[in-house]
Amino acid sequence: MPKIPDEVVKRVIDLAKIEDVVGDFMNLRKAGVNLTGICPFHDDKHDGNFIVRPSSIPEARHGNTYRCFVCDHKGGPVQFMMEHQRLSFPDAIRWLGKKYNEPVDDIPLNYTPPPPRPKPAPLPVLEIPRSYVRRTMEIGGDQTLFIYWLKHLPWDDEQRARLQQTLWQYCVGGWKDGRVVFWQIDHNGIPRAAKLMRYLPDGHRDKTQHPGWIYNQDGCRQQLEPDKHEIIKPLFGSHLLKRYPKAVVNIVESEKTAIIMANYYDNFDSQIWLACGGLKFLQLDSLQPLIDQGRTIWLWPDKDGREAWQTVCDKLGYDHCRVYTHFFDTCWREEDGDKADVADIAIRMMKTGDKPRQAPEQAATAKSQEAVLPLGANLPLEPVEWNNDVPFMDLDEMNDPRLRLWRETLRQRYNFNKSKQ
Ligand SMILES: [Zn+2]
Repeated sequence: MPKIPDEVVKRVIDLAKIEDVVGDFMNLRKAGVNLTGICPFHDDKHDGNFIVRPSSIPEARHGNTYRCFVCDHKGGPVQFMMEHQRLSFPDAIRWLGKKYNEPVDDIPLNYTPPPPRPKPAPLPVLEIPRSYVRRTMEIGGDQTLFIYWLKHLPWDDEQRARLQQTLWQYCVGGWKDGRVVFWQIDHNGIPRAAKLMRYLPDGHRDKTQHPGWIYNQDGCRQQLEPDKHEIIKPLFGSHLLKRYPKAVVNIVESEKTAIIMANYYDNFDSQIWLACGGLKFLQLDSLQPLIDQGRTIWLWPDKDGREAWQTVCDKLGYDHCRVYTHFFDTCWREEDGDKADVADIAIRMMKTGDKPRQAPEQAATAKSQEAVLPLGANLPLEPVEWNNDVPFMDLDEMNDPRLRLWRETLRQRYNFNKSKQ
């Protein structure tokens, strides 16, 4: 049998994409940048051990390969065909040549590619009833350590007076065990997820506990059935996009930071603050709704997160997205520490009464940075009127008399009395 010329082998190998080849024989599920499936090489019951690194990932980072972390079968498209279909090396090349329309030789292949497998029906996306949001918002105030801490920050009078409304805007709720509930409601106003976090009295997150998710809590799990749904996690505060269609979108890491900055400025019409939940959670797909709306996006990473977010920004390739560094460049001090986020600096400045230095040359070089007000700027404060709408609710629910009563109760409960402060 004549040998297949080396250059033909090379051409076929260059064309073969592991995700297509493996995908011809088994179902793969997207998991971040990778794909996973049930390993075909051992008695696997758990989807997650068998990882496919798609061909879009560079070779140096094991792109275009598969690997099972239990039985350690691994390799590229050719190895997969040899192992999975028990083909010889030349037959694997012939099979791939046929798949990718690359002529190999005249030797007939005694194997025909399988018919494409029917893809499993996509799972419905989890949609959490709005009544859940309401119920968590009934628990608040001093029962939730985070809100208690937030109320006792050194706000000025106006900031303090509007704090409850800011929490209202973000639909911040509480859980019966004192954890705070950060709702992730999408840009269409549909609640998709809620993160439950425990805070310490000093305003730091209790790092001994992982954040919980509402659909995994007892009682909720049975009703929401997270296993039967695809779960999406919109940016925290996404529901504000609809309400403030012209606002610049500032994205920070933590929900806490978003709330503090929003309450500091209270200029929702021109700027809203969203949070992705952490350095590593700024995902391209969660930014898609912002891009679709043509929003100007400013990324405000923590002090130690600039490079990582610059990389995300570069990958995004969206002209109206920038990493905003002006604030750190002008306001950060050594005492804020190397892991400081903008809210840490804001709180320190509230305490000391510091105002940021202006750096006009920077504002001039980056024209759009002018759109972001420097912290401590004298903002014209308009009287804040209590707004009856919960940001994401539709009209039917607004007319529900029980809801009106509930809203009235909340309003009374949170009406700050300055003499008591
Ligand atoms: Zn395996």
